[in-house]
Amino acid sequence: MEAGRLSTLAPGIRWQAVPSPTLPPATTTNCWLLGATELVAVDPAGVTEADQATLSGNLRAAGLRVARILLTHHHGDHIGGAPALRAAFAAPVLAHPATAARLPFAVDGLLHEGDPLPTDDGRDWRLLHTPGHASGHLCAFDGETVLAGDMVAGEGTIVLDPPEGDLGLYLASLRRLRDLAPTRLLPAHGPAIAPALPVLDHYIAHRQARTDQVRRALADGAPRQPIDLVPTLYPELPADFYPVAARQVLCHLRWLVAAGEAQADPAGWRLGRGHA
Ligand SMILES: [Zn+2]
Repeated sequence: MEAGRLSTLAPGIRWQAVPSPTLPPATTTNCWLLGATELVAVDPAGVTEADQATLSGNLRAAGLRVARILLTHHHGDHIGGAPALRAAFAAPVLAHPATAARLPFAVDGLLHEGDPLPTDDGRDWRLLHTPGHASGHLCAFDGETVLAGDMVAGEGTIVLDPPEGDLGLYLASLRRLRDLAPTRLLPAHGPAIAPALPVLDHYIAHRQARTDQVRRALADGAPRQPIDLVPTLYPELPADFYPVAARQVLCHLRWLVAAGEAQADPAGWRLGRGHA
């Protein structure tokens, strides 16, 4: 998907991939644009004036206006262009309270679980609070399509950075999206995903398989640090990604502790319950 070009996926769903400070292999964040002509702009990510001007310029050239700006969550690769887009169209920036509390700028309104996200094309978007990747993460669902933010990725993987990243919450949010039986997912990175259910099933199964791998890697009872488990769990990974991967391992370890299957002490993490 070519960065900097305004594209149409379906009636009422446009997007532009905007260069952003995100994690490789992704280099862009999708600004999803919902509605017919008075649009909800989701996650305007651009951090340079040129990228911000490309987005607002393309919209104006197509006769479109931004009526509202929705931030799915607070991460730096989703929010950089929000103040500039707000200024360009006098459009309010909206987010969940837990996102608003983590932003480097003030929002103009708060959004919550179950709130409608009205658009001028007749779609009936509703917001879903889906914590796990980020505390204030919001998705939206119109009966068939899920605006997915960083719950899933069309390119690269979803990073969980604890304690904000929480595997138990993330899995519960994934299952919630799965139970909606959507046909299509609009991720923040990479192309739209359809069909949706095999991908959601894969994400859930993949995290469960990783947790099983962590259980097996700790089966000898010896205490280990998260970084010690990375080469076993991610044998294909270049060493520069070990610190990020160790954060993923930590999520699984914390999940095992929460489930009463593992314990942490100064020597490291091991299977079994701690002494009361
Ligand atoms: Zn994120």
